[in-house]
Amino acid sequence: MASPDLVTPWPSSTGYSFSGSLDIRLEEANPADTLPALEVPTSSISYNCTIPKPPPLPCKTFTRTKYANTFLECCSVPKETVDTWDKLFNEGHGADVYVITEDESYVPAHSSVLGAASPVLGNLLQQTRIKNGMRYIKIPGVPYDAVRLFIRFLYSSCYEKEEMKKFVLHLLVLSHSYMVPALKRVCIYFLEQDWLTKENIVDVLQLARNCDAPRLSLHCVRRVVKDFKAISSTEGWKVMRRVNPALEQELLESVVEADSKKEERLKKMEERKVYLQLNEAMEALLHICRDGCRTIGPRDKVLKGSQVACGFPACKGLETLVRHFSSCKTRVPGGCVHCKRMWQLLELHSRMCNEPDTCKVPLCRHFKEKMQQQCKKDETKWKLLVSKVVAARNRAAAFSGQRSGFI
Ligand SMILES: [Zn+2]
Ligand SMILES: [Zn+2]
Ligand SMILES: [Zn+2]
Repeated sequence: MASPDLVTPWPSSTGYSFSGSLDIRLEEANPADTLPALEVPTSSISYNCTIPKPPPLPCKTFTRTKYANTFLECCSVPKETVDTWDKLFNEGHGADVYVITEDESYVPAHSSVLGAASPVLGNLLQQTRIKNGMRYIKIPGVPYDAVRLFIRFLYSSCYEKEEMKKFVLHLLVLSHSYMVPALKRVCIYFLEQDWLTKENIVDVLQLARNCDAPRLSLHCVRRVVKDFKAISSTEGWKVMRRVNPALEQELLESVVEADSKKEERLKKMEERKVYLQLNEAMEALLHICRDGCRTIGPRDKVLKGSQVACGFPACKGLETLVRHFSSCKTRVPGGCVHCKRMWQLLELHSRMCNEPDTCKVPLCRHFKEKMQQQCKKDETKWKLLVSKVVAARNRAAAFSGQRSGFI
């Protein structure tokens, strides 16, 4: 069940809303030269010198293959703009911040960009003092490459997919800690799509919980339930068992719950099948006794041989029983097991029958009269059985109605 936001790649990223800051003026350019294909309906608008011409539509000059990883296919930022921001990051021209990484390496950056892209970094930068014209902030706990990837994303939302795959868990943590929702969406998207493996799923689950990613967390739990045997033997699971036994307990309970739900479902299906069969037997009984059956014959006629088999579907099931019942010598309630079954079917019919006076099913009236003297416990049991068979009949009717409705 893919949720709509999984199908639709991304809502427009906040990182792309440059329209306010980049006021590109195109007064000099003649739209007819730059965009010959652009056709604006002008029939109802007459331009004069006071009304500026509309800006050109964004042109799709970027190629999918080269920029597939930047989600440019679903945003309207031209390639040149993205390139500019990527270049600014790569060259670090005019940088006024050094981001210090775990191994004491430096990533040069611009405080205004960092502050605009991440409110947390913005606050951090405000609190740092300037030394020799530079600010210094530290992003500890993640490798240098992950920090670079993170900062690059803040500039241009660009990344190489392979690199992203390698550091996706670090980036998920960074995107959460520094409040960069666009990056968080990218990480979650890729993890949910195809970067979850049985080796990393326990780690991803724990991170998803810590990074407030409930859908990803649910995704992981489902995978654990589905592939419990393989996942519970991974290294990640063993570590989790040691450091977070409560989570292991929770996951085990989910697995047990899913198992018992499955069992319950199977049991219910089996039960429904029995009631449906009983309903079919009731229909067959009516068909045999009221309408007459080519194979078995109506009750007042001698049973025929099975020269031409009856087409009524439930008839076949009842045929052997009816044949036995009519010839069995121990035909008493509680006697032969087959006859007992037949008695039960006849009683069930009587309890479901609304026309005992005209009914042609044997013993219909007899059972109606017997019901008056029946003990309460038996009565309740029968009532329950009748209600279940009626429910099965209604379901079958609704199903066939639905089917014929579709045809
Ligand atoms: Zn028949
Ligand atoms: Zn018998
Ligand atoms: Zn009847």
